[in-house]
Amino acid sequence: MGKKVLFVASECTPFVKTGGLADVIGSLPQALQQTENIDVSVMLPLYQEIWDNWQNQLTKINSLPLNVGWRKHDATIYHTTHQGIPFYFIKNDYYFSRHGVYGYEDDGERYLFFCQAVMEALKVIDFEADILHAHDWQAGLAIAFANITPPTKQLKTVFTIHNIKYQGILLKDAYADLFNISDEHIGGLEWDGLLNCMKSGIFHADKITTVSPTYAEEITFPFYGEGLDSIIRERKNDVIGILNGIDLNDYNPNTDPHLNTKYSYSRIKKKENKEILQKKLGLKVDPEIPMYVMITRLVEQKGLHLVQAILDEFLNENVQFVLLGTGDYEFENFFYHAEKRNKEKLVSYLGFDEALARQIYASGDFFVMPSLFEPCGLSQLIALQYKTVPIVRETGGLKDTVTPFNEYSLEGNGFSFKNYNAHELLEQLKYSLSIYQNEEKWQALLKNVNKSYYSWDDSAHAYADLYHELHQA
Ligand code: ADP
Repeated sequence: MGKKVLFVASECTPFVKTGGLADVIGSLPQALQQTENIDVSVMLPLYQEIWDNWQNQLTKINSLPLNVGWRKHDATIYHTTHQGIPFYFIKNDYYFSRHGVYGYEDDGERYLFFCQAVMEALKVIDFEADILHAHDWQAGLAIAFANITPPTKQLKTVFTIHNIKYQGILLKDAYADLFNISDEHIGGLEWDGLLNCMKSGIFHADKITTVSPTYAEEITFPFYGEGLDSIIRERKNDVIGILNGIDLNDYNPNTDPHLNTKYSYSRIKKKENKEILQKKLGLKVDPEIPMYVMITRLVEQKGLHLVQAILDEFLNENVQFVLLGTGDYEFENFFYHAEKRNKEKLVSYLGFDEALARQIYASGDFFVMPSLFEPCGLSQLIALQYKTVPIVRETGGLKDTVTPFNEYSLEGNGFSFKNYNAHELLEQLKYSLSIYQNEEKWQALLKNVNKSYYSWDDSAHAYADLYHELHQA
């Protein structure tokens, strides 16, 4: 019989998405089920947005009373099946009936509650997990609780770090009291005198994975470890890097319902998408002008300080630049004003828009992703799938998936630079332009791009091996 794995996470396509985590939780279970015969269920908080869009398809299973200090909170469990995968949702209006997903002052408390509710839910759902696989800090305490007070049987646990920067930090004394965490267990949950959800997952998990081999190495160093590098080094023998994949059926320019002109390899058809987008965004309509695009959360991680430093200079070239992003005020403000200065060439679309994102992936010639750090990065993989050439900094998963084009050997599927330095980015932007203008070299590069596929196949296999190993231990 196949093993049963319960995924616990804070976002998942198609229900709710703020970034790459949602893509992973929305596609890895299918890959595990289809290629590895592993039975996966997924547990998520029931945010207002999910309730608004999916309530007709949800079945109520049970309502469980939880004590949070002197308050009583119900965790109501709902269920649905989507594309063959069972989903369980934890509903609590006080914590989750809010606009959006993150960014509330009590986020730590919200996910602490979620993790406690997961433990209770495990006792009543019709899915007897062998392995609990929790993702990122929001689910880190589920690993700790499963270890400290096993809900049914002792579960094997896997904790995946998608981004070690976000750790979920709470005041220790207040929350230990509120959620009944006894003194003897606090050591495994605390870091620097605070309750740290990321550290709790790392400390308690049987195995720890992160989303690329290079990032697994990087986080053992202080620069990338965000203060947790010493505990990663302590657990190094149990940490492995497994590269994320993407769902090649979903991200397929030949079937994508958001595109007016579908294509596989045809540059002519890809250029039709560019023309449509140019028209839609008010740019000069000319399919020959090279288009550079970014689709990103607007946060420091994504290398935006580098873009800030050189964008105006780069826009002196005969290029167009399209940004789709939302996030920190500093960067939204920068792109808003940069567009005003460069109306002919730059469009800054400040928002989150799945359909527009797909149209931009399809229209761009180059995808710019100069990250300060990048655990894996899915955007460059999606870009490759839409035959858009990535320009990246050599860090984390970007280093593992993009090989710099060598104009002499004609190898490589993108452009990259090593140091976090704006002029190295500018140099690569200008270099990419010179390759675009050299038909022979450009075609050689596109040939390599056309052969770059990052499906889940290999990585699903690596996760399956890990589950087998744990199960037999
Ligand atoms: P991260 O998870 O750090 O945000 P990834 O590259 O792993 O970065 O994944 C980002 C995902 O979110 C991709 O699917 C990307 O297309 C999508 N995305 C990011 N910003 C936006 C936006 N403003 N609108 C639509 N999709 C976006």
